[in-house]
Amino acid sequence: MAVDSILSSSSPLGPPVHEKDAKALQFIEEMTRNADAVQERVLAEILSRNAETEYLQRFKLDGATDRDTFKSRIPIVTYEDLQPEIQRIANGDRSPILSAHPVSDSGTSAGERKLMPTIHEELDRRQQLYSLLMPVMNLYVPDLDKGKGLYFLFVKAESKTPGGLLARPVLTSYYKSEHFKTRPYDAFNVYTSPNEAILCADSFQSMYTQMLCGLIMREEVQRVGAVFASGLLRAIRFLQLNWKNLANDISTGILNPKVTDPSVRECATKILTPNPELAEFITKECSEENWEGIITRIWPNTKYLDVIVTGAMAQYIPTLDYYSRGLPMACTMYASSECYFGLNLRPMCKPSEVSYTIMPNMAYFEFMPHDPTAPPLSRDSPPRLVDLADVELGREYELVITTYAGLCRYRVGDILLVTGFHNSAPQFSFVRRKNVLLSIDSDKTDEAELQKGVDNASVLLKEFNTSVIEYTSYADTATIPGHYVIFWELLVKDPSNSPTDEVLNRCCLAMEESMNSVYRQGRVADNSIGPLEIRVVRNGTFEELMDYAISRGASINQYKAPRCVSFSPILELLDARVVSKHLSPAAPHWTPERRR
Ligand code: AMP
Repeated sequence: MAVDSILSSSSPLGPPVHEKDAKALQFIEEMTRNADAVQERVLAEILSRNAETEYLQRFKLDGATDRDTFKSRIPIVTYEDLQPEIQRIANGDRSPILSAHPVSDSGTSAGERKLMPTIHEELDRRQQLYSLLMPVMNLYVPDLDKGKGLYFLFVKAESKTPGGLLARPVLTSYYKSEHFKTRPYDAFNVYTSPNEAILCADSFQSMYTQMLCGLIMREEVQRVGAVFASGLLRAIRFLQLNWKNLANDISTGILNPKVTDPSVRECATKILTPNPELAEFITKECSEENWEGIITRIWPNTKYLDVIVTGAMAQYIPTLDYYSRGLPMACTMYASSECYFGLNLRPMCKPSEVSYTIMPNMAYFEFMPHDPTAPPLSRDSPPRLVDLADVELGREYELVITTYAGLCRYRVGDILLVTGFHNSAPQFSFVRRKNVLLSIDSDKTDEAELQKGVDNASVLLKEFNTSVIEYTSYADTATIPGHYVIFWELLVKDPSNSPTDEVLNRCCLAMEESMNSVYRQGRVADNSIGPLEIRVVRNGTFEELMDYAISRGASINQYKAPRCVSFSPILELLDARVVSKHLSPAAPHWTPERRR
């Protein structure tokens, strides 16, 4: 029986008891047993329906749908290569440019918010991947239909492209879709958060109501989650700041007037009845200085945390461990704005052992062997890409996708390591995203952006005859929300006129103003990133850093100051040399509208 193969290796429970689960597991088995054939079919399907698109015609595919012709004619591209086409779609050109299907709205991805064309049917594919998650989880955790999930889920601001298409993050379009809003009742997917609270665009009112409902239903809660670990920590921080008001509402049965959205008020009011005993309990737990284990103290029946802690989110594991007294953290899926990729078939494994199985029906996947020492790619020597079923165990690859929405041989930027196979489908651990230096939430800041920030801030130092001679950075996640720390070594040419504290504070803000919109949105609208900090280190610090690196085997000739550090001895060295610390005095500018 096909389903046995998911069950046999490590599931502690018996075979699935629910027919729906058995069907979902059967589907996973079918897809993974026939990974190569499914991939061949997916590519043929994408190419035949998009045969008339301007893009495929440009490369003279002439209706071919086979892998060899596709690979020999279609170039491997990045977002920047597709920018002209994407801009035309955004500007309102409705001809079939990338996809034969009308582009419905566009997901946005991080960096300087990228626009990703998407088509309506992608929602079905995403929904299908979501529908596989609980059947897998049910193999490992019993009785999840006997309680509720406290999930902190949010929509973000959306805008219109010049041509009138909606531009919004992929999860926002999913939560706003009928797929989510009118989902049929499923005992395994009952949330404490009402749809109205999830769909409320004001992040304070949304979080307040979701937390309030989670507190009221505390004994029913079996799992606590958010999409990413950073989101869950933000919720804990919110509780730290707002528990008095929340307890007051619960005690009196009267909702805080700060929740003004009529539909949110209406549904929260229905749930809220005076419960002084619960209010007293919350007050007792939250007023304690020590918040260790707060998640398990408030929600004692929590079996696991449902949050992604792989990739950039791994930095939050120790803090989550602290707040949950080591509850398991389940990383269930791997996805992006461009395409949803796959799921973790052993969701209760340790974060360090998480592997994702790419579902071969989601898109056509290719893998570029990743060799950091190889020369850069050129059109004359295109790299050989490997198919999903042909990747080798133990090797690293960069993910390249061809999607139903019209991306062809598109480099996602993720580096994955093959850790094993489920049937003939490979499983991957997420190694890292290319070119990302700093990340707190969904922000992804690269070296060039950091450099631009330092350059812009340095302008303020000119009148003091001062310059930044070296810098490095660090994502400080010990604070909640986390924040960027930039270590600066300054050359002050006239010590009698050195930059004042006030000027250095403004340098922090100048850096923030030049960061990408995802960063600024995190600072302004979502409160998921704290004020940027500059720590000035004494002169000679970066030379000491170099000495340290050389003592550990770095080459003097090739040494470059690292633009980001995370290794504790180096952080300790830097911190021990700090002469002054400065924080951004205000939030940078941000609006939902895109910069033109
Ligand atoms: P975005 O396009 O902004 O939604 O971001 C998608 C990116 O987030 C992916 O390409 C990955 O770099 C990262 N990501 C998504 N899911 C995971 C995961 N489960 N583990 C690690 N990184 C992830």
